[in-house]
Amino acid sequence: MRADLILLNTCSVREKPVRKLLTRIGELTKHNLSGIIGICGCVAQQEGEDLLRRSPSVGFILGPGQLHRVGEALRAVDQGHRPVLTGFDTETGYDVRTIFRTSSTRGMVTVIEGCNEYCTFCVVPYTRGPEVSRPMETILQEVRSLARNGIREVELLGQTINAYRCPATGADLADLLEALAGIEGLARIRFITSHPRLFDDRLIRVLARHRHLSRYLHLPFQAGSDTVLARMRRRYTREEYLDLIGRIRAAVPDINLSTDVIVGFPGETEKDFRQTLDLLESVRFGQVFAFAYSPRPRTPAARYDAQVPEPVKKERLARLFELTDAISAELNAALVGSTLPVLIDGDSRRDPGDWQGRTEDNRVVNFPKPEATAVGDIVTVRITRASAHSLYGEAMNTGPHRLPVLDGEPSDDRATA
Ligand code: SAM
Repeated sequence: MRADLILLNTCSVREKPVRKLLTRIGELTKHNLSGIIGICGCVAQQEGEDLLRRSPSVGFILGPGQLHRVGEALRAVDQGHRPVLTGFDTETGYDVRTIFRTSSTRGMVTVIEGCNEYCTFCVVPYTRGPEVSRPMETILQEVRSLARNGIREVELLGQTINAYRCPATGADLADLLEALAGIEGLARIRFITSHPRLFDDRLIRVLARHRHLSRYLHLPFQAGSDTVLARMRRRYTREEYLDLIGRIRAAVPDINLSTDVIVGFPGETEKDFRQTLDLLESVRFGQVFAFAYSPRPRTPAARYDAQVPEPVKKERLARLFELTDAISAELNAALVGSTLPVLIDGDSRRDPGDWQGRTEDNRVVNFPKPEATAVGDIVTVRITRASAHSLYGEAMNTGPHRLPVLDGEPSDDRATA
């Protein structure tokens, strides 16, 4: 099949994205599958003009800050040019009403773009530009419209979401969550990714107060050793991170925590790595996303001495997964016999006779489809079986479901902050 236009969206966070991209362009060109090829995403921003030189079949380059100019790029191609549109403006340029959504139950909503953290391993500040927060009023409008159209769960997105500041009012993430918690029809609100150094007690109190604010929290710690954390420029210590986890769990005891970890950061010793394992053992996250360190262009860590050899990274990663899989399996096994509200997302990937859904704390549950249930319903499921990564169960109530009762008017917490 031939397409008039193929857009390749790219990520540059890890590994060798340019090589992967050139291979993909080569395949498309060889089979003469496309009219125009446009390169979008972080590799477009990172490589810019260079991509045009290396790949004559590419028609245009569109960085993540320039998505709204896709029409302009196509017109320029029509006139025989090969435009390179990269860089960042001071506000989000695209119209959120044009977003094509594939899920009828869950909607992702960007609230802040870019990143100002400059962790020494990370390419994001260079490829996604500086932080730009959307006005809170436009976010509320978008979420209200999603809820009116049947979306039950909203996931707020940002590289450092708790750096959010409304440009008009200065409202922060806690204020935004308070306001969103009052929107009728919305059963669940999640947000990723939080930076530990910016996670304050006010945010914890808002989470504790509103039941349908997610019982799931993604809080990357990256490394368990203070030496490595300092070289990563994370700007918190192991003790501060553990103290934060303690405060969150004291306020929201049923929270399911997940995290990101990097192994084999330059200079990481076996002793440093054991501190990462030790932290994982003491926190016992429900889910762990772990990556072998991958040197990225322009980042300081790529130039650090003592790069860790690939086989050592691989071996450490395997040890880490052995531990985290065992912990996830134990945590899931402890849920067997319990009954949990599950929001139905769609057919189970393994068996179309089963539904797949998620619990309030973002665990995946598969269960046989009872009659009179549909995508978007919340049903109570009794958990009968567990593995490291999923839960299995059977639905208890299949009658008309109700939304969880919203917990009152947003309150002003500033006085106590
Ligand atoms: N802004 C978030 C933060 O700093 O916590 C997430 C950034 S990134 C898109 C997602 C994850 O990729 C990071 O949390 C980190 O664990 C991992 N990552 C980023 N750069 C990496 C690198 N150079 N090598 C390996 N993993 C990396």
